[in-house]
Amino acid sequence: MDLVLPLEYQLGNWCKHFTGRFQKQCRAGIAYMTFQASALPCLKDNCSTETCTHASFPTVTEVQAQMQEIEGLIKQALPNLSKGICPQCRKPIERKEIEGFSQYAMPCRHRLGTTF
Ligand SMILES: [Zn+2]
Repeated sequence: MDLVLPLEYQLGNWCKHFTGRFQKQCRAGIAYMTFQASALPCLKDNCSTETCTHASFPTVTEVQAQMQEIEGLIKQALPNLSKGICPQCRKPIERKEIEGFSQYAMPCRHRLGTTF
């Protein structure tokens, strides 16, 4: 079994209001502590017995629009990265620094990606 699920699947699987497990609440103002951490109803296929009345998942059309936006951003970013230019601010990358699991462009400190 693949450990990494396709991006298209992941985009459609998360509630539109989800902000990340390290935040206190979602965009709808619901505190994550309301639910058991292992069974957030923010994830469509987690078999949670808990429900959230504010849960709202992207439609197939919305997921496709997100995929096109992401693919466009990647097509813009890759040529810049290969030339040593930061894809976010378009300034030259003098060096890259690793902090935790992330890699940053220096001196602008924009995040370039993960290191694993
Ligand atoms: Zn930058």
